[in-house]
Amino acid sequence: SVRVRFCPSPTGNPHVGLVRTALFNWAFARHNGGTMVFRIEDTDAARDSEESYEQLLDSMRWLGLTWDEGPEVGGPHAPYRQSQRMDIYRDVAEKLQAAGYAYPCYCTTEELDARREAARAAGKPSGYDGQCRTLTDEQKQAYEAEGRSHIVRFRMPDEATTFTDLVRGEITVQPENLSDYGILRANGAPLYTLVNPIDDALMEITHVLRGEDLLSSTPRQIALYKALIELGVAKTIPAFGHLPYVMGEGNKKLSKRDPQASLNLYRERGFLPEGLLNYLSLLGWSFSADQDVFSVQDLIEKFDIADVNANPARFDLKKAEAINADHIRMLDVKAFTAACEPWLKAPHANWAPEDFDQAKWEAIAPHAQTRVQVLSDITANVDFLFLKEPVEDEASWTKAMKGDPAALLTTARAKLDAADWSDPESLKNAVLAAGEEHGLKLGKAQAPVRVAVTGRTVGLPLFESLEILGKDASLARIDAALA
Ligand code: GLU
Repeated sequence: SVRVRFCPSPTGNPHVGLVRTALFNWAFARHNGGTMVFRIEDTDAARDSEESYEQLLDSMRWLGLTWDEGPEVGGPHAPYRQSQRMDIYRDVAEKLQAAGYAYPCYCTTEELDARREAARAAGKPSGYDGQCRTLTDEQKQAYEAEGRSHIVRFRMPDEATTFTDLVRGEITVQPENLSDYGILRANGAPLYTLVNPIDDALMEITHVLRGEDLLSSTPRQIALYKALIELGVAKTIPAFGHLPYVMGEGNKKLSKRDPQASLNLYRERGFLPEGLLNYLSLLGWSFSADQDVFSVQDLIEKFDIADVNANPARFDLKKAEAINADHIRMLDVKAFTAACEPWLKAPHANWAPEDFDQAKWEAIAPHAQTRVQVLSDITANVDFLFLKEPVEDEASWTKAMKGDPAALLTTARAKLDAADWSDPESLKNAVLAAGEEHGLKLGKAQAPVRVAVTGRTVGLPLFESLEILGKDASLARIDAALA
């Protein structure tokens, strides 16, 4: 059965490229009734952090990308944090060396650099030249006596590697482009190049779906796999599929340092997990030619790695927001109301916590649901209900108060005073009638009323807004505008 893995390193904040990788693995596992393994690749103590580890777990939970084996869940291959699996790697590294698949390399950085430069100048491949491949025991002892340290390198076979990438089709790499590579550092610490295939083998991963940036390490991992099979550590070689690059602004690769790439940004702005997942699934895949908006359930039903496109995908924030807006509209109104509340009740909201009014919020929420693209948009739409005075927006004011609206506002105030405040239709008729007296259509007549009451030129349906804010507060704001 299908077993996939998501195996990030806990360095820095989760970014959208990483989430796309997690999502494709998850959707592939769920589509095939397979197993999603979550593994933490924390072998680089200098760069890994516990905070980043916590964030990764929290992000996966928020997105609903559940894992069947991994941290906190456990599983038959525990532990799932590489920092807790060092004995395993040491043991396999020893076996590889004993069987001649790997060897100590005593070359210093200076020597390697000099030879690489020379190879480059001569137009030759500049990977490791194999100098320490055939050292005798005496030569090794002599190096040791000199006080040299050594790393351990994996011995690449002298033949081409061919494999069928699930996204890109058949790929062949010639041996001159595949030099022997380091698997242990001089201090004995294992490198990604070693631990990642060992764990994939031990955890019986069947499909490795990961970013295109790792394509170049695949032939090396396949060679290591063959050795692991010989040693009885691995059973089979997994299939590989490399997901296309995600391009950001200016058609440059979206880097994880790009602020636009940070998952937290989308979360803080109020993307729904399902909206974000919907959008991210379109980075390299499509649901159908004429449908961009779909549920996570639909995605699972349709997702196939064979349909992933090898071409770079472009990250389009506008499209992401539009898709999220559609998901917001699909929420039932109760869920929408609850989903917005963290923004409205946040300590940094523009009003004091005691000025938030739950009943008013619940009354206005249905009118707001079609107006927001991300949940954080909600505050500007409803702030007039909770602020003591509406926001002061100079530009709105100038625009709506062109000419002299005082006469109109005075008439409108009088008619509103006499209207039925439990009926938005009655409030509308009041403003309509005031407009008629001054030769203004409804649109022109309601603009100054809206700015006086809400502080803005655009917003939620005005007469419902007035009703919910209430007669006293609404009229007081018109009076203030007239003063
Ligand atoms: N820990 C690696 C990374 O974060 C995983 C790469 C892979 O999927 O093989 O890039």
